[in-house]
Amino acid sequence: MMKTLQELVRANIGRLKPYSSARDEYQGAEASVFLDANENPYNCPNNRYPDPLQGELKKNLAKLKGVPPESIFLGNGSDEAIDLAFRAFCEPRTDNVVAIEPTYGMYAVCAEINDVEYRRVLLDEHFQFSAERMLEAADGHTKLMFLCSPNNPTGNDLDPAEIETLLRRFDGLVVLDEAYNDFSAQPSFLKRLAEFPNLVVLQTFSKAWGCAAIRLGMAFASADIIGVYNKIKYPYNVNQLTQQQAMEMLHRYYEIERWVEMLKQERDRVEKEFKALPCVQHVFPSNANFFLVRVTDAVKIYNYLVGEGIIVRNRHSVALCGNCLRITVGTKAENESLIEALKRFA
Ligand SMILES: *Cc1c(COP(=O)(O)O)cnc(C)c1O
Repeated sequence: MMKTLQELVRANIGRLKPYSSARDEYQGAEASVFLDANENPYNCPNNRYPDPLQGELKKNLAKLKGVPPESIFLGNGSDEAIDLAFRAFCEPRTDNVVAIEPTYGMYAVCAEINDVEYRRVLLDEHFQFSAERMLEAADGHTKLMFLCSPNNPTGNDLDPAEIETLLRRFDGLVVLDEAYNDFSAQPSFLKRLAEFPNLVVLQTFSKAWGCAAIRLGMAFASADIIGVYNKIKYPYNVNQLTQQQAMEMLHRYYEIERWVEMLKQERDRVEKEFKALPCVQHVFPSNANFFLVRVTDAVKIYNYLVGEGIIVRNRHSVALCGNCLRITVGTKAENESLIEALKRFA
């Protein structure tokens, strides 16, 4: 049974009366003279503060994602949504979080910034996790658990049955990072948001949407959880240019679908080519737009590739990833340069 939100949220956040911006207090399109926000009347349209709750964008995203707009938080990348989870729910030096290991590095960094204990539960040799072991690592002060599926840097989907078990048995919030779900055949847990009051799903415009530059991340959860996020976020956390570009991408959704199809095909092709390379020992199967490979000597090959002007991610020092490189799938030409360079590697 999930704890009540009141039990989960930090006491100071529960008591907080949020900042009320000019654009919060007046929302309506009919007015034509805006003298409420100390803006400069010149340099239209960038002179105006943006919509603090991104209403238009959320309305359109809600349709695409099949969730109510009240269940959407938008932030300065998913990274903002991760950081806000700590700030809203984890009392520094008292509460803790549990996460799979290895996984995306930002969860641990945000824990450290917020002075919150971060408990790592190692994945098994197939990079799968056990809900039971996550629960064993938890105690009465565990507020959040972090899962990432497909996981970064391993590239595999986590077992959905195990995710469901964790959602049912953990009394805090489960943050499920689906940054790479567009590339996976697994259905998103978004469809089941109503079923799990303790579920927070993270998605992003940075990967499949091709918009890493605009910094736009999404968190989906119950309206109550999103209410907590909205209460503590910076008033104008998503700038106007970002909101506009995101709206434009929504109108070009067919293009995202096309990119995803191309990248998935290319991933499968490049993975096959990698299996034939002498310096490659193992190619881990991927459901994302990158894949992990175990090579003969990760540090040496990484440095060799840098010399060739090709940058991959060296994951050698990450748990379970000894001698592993993480390869992002690029264009066919980019992938070919990489493969050709590796063929030349003695
Ligand atoms: C790339 C990535 C993100 C995206 O973060 P943004 O701040 O939205 O760019 C989130 N989670 C994981 C696991 C990632 O690999």
